[in-house]
Amino acid sequence: MVAVHSTARGPALGGCRLATYAELPLAVLDVLRLARAMSYKNAAAGLPLGGGKGVIALPPGAALAGRRRTAALLDFAEVVEQLSGRYLTAEDVGMGSRDMAVIARGTSYVTGLSRARGGSGDPSPLTALGVQAAIETVCERLTGSGGLRGRSIAILGLGHVGARLAERCARAGATLVVADLDPAKRALAERLGARWTTPARALAARVDVLSPCALGSALTAELVPRLRCRAIVGAANNQLGEDGVADLLAARGILWAPDFVVNAGGVINLAVELRPGGYEPATARREVRAIAATLTEVLDAAEAEGIAPLAAAERLAEARMARGVERKVP
Ligand code: NAD
Repeated sequence: MVAVHSTARGPALGGCRLATYAELPLAVLDVLRLARAMSYKNAAAGLPLGGGKGVIALPPGAALAGRRRTAALLDFAEVVEQLSGRYLTAEDVGMGSRDMAVIARGTSYVTGLSRARGGSGDPSPLTALGVQAAIETVCERLTGSGGLRGRSIAILGLGHVGARLAERCARAGATLVVADLDPAKRALAERLGARWTTPARALAARVDVLSPCALGSALTAELVPRLRCRAIVGAANNQLGEDGVADLLAARGILWAPDFVVNAGGVINLAVELRPGGYEPATARREVRAIAATLTEVLDAAEAEGIAPLAAAERLAEARMARGVERKVP
């Protein structure tokens, strides 16, 4: 299934997720929720793109491999093709670059293909670059200096994004506390001179910045009183267990940088790929670093109006959606 939430700013861009759902209506709810989130992410980043999402839903216990997987991916491609460019797909949870190559056989409305196929490839390094820019912005606000030397940062999740973020922050001189469910990630911690701990301890670490880079909903109402960080800036999508947590964090004086602003590096990268001249790595890096300016705008607005950064980021995205854009992605 494909959900298109908004095309006010351009074609709806959002990845396709392959996941198991207990019942089909739950997959429908998920694709609608995810498509809406993409509208906000793309608009907040100022991209000429709307929001959409794809879901290939599997019943519990089912696996999709071999010819059945290829057939399902081609079915999905057919749906995307029928939308004639109103929806642009990309890789998401449960899909790999080989899957995207199969989808590209059935539709040209695919982004993020490998560099060999003319796409922008793995977005994780650019997402990590954007998260680092956001951490620096927040450190600047908290301490008057954006440099990471001597800053303490706890990173939860050393996957594609978290590992690269840890490497970048270690190089910049930060003191790191890291955790992952996968014990094999400990080797990276040792290589970087980072302190390895459990996920629960990383969440409650006394640090300048906590950076959730694992799966969603890490920040719950129960966790907020136990937090000892000054700010939270991470790559994970949907970090808040529920929206009310944003106000609880603000009330405790913990600065939460809205996830969909911080982790937009991947979609900004895709937007560069969609330009007429094709993908330009240097342009992508420059535009991803501009996440710092967007976050500054959001945090200034939150401070000026006495609202939580989440509300300020949503307002910015909604204003941009209402205005639309003149430029259109071909
Ligand atoms: P990934 O699957 O490569 O890495 C996730 C890591 O988190 C894994 O190492 C996993 O073992 C670990 N993990 C899972 N649950 C955990 C827990 N409870 N405690 C500690 N560690 C746990 O994913 P990724 O591509 O690095 O993405 C990380 C997050 O960032 C996701 O929420 C993703 O949606 C979001 N995100 C990623 C990108 C991107 O470019 N890859 C872009 C935007 C947002």
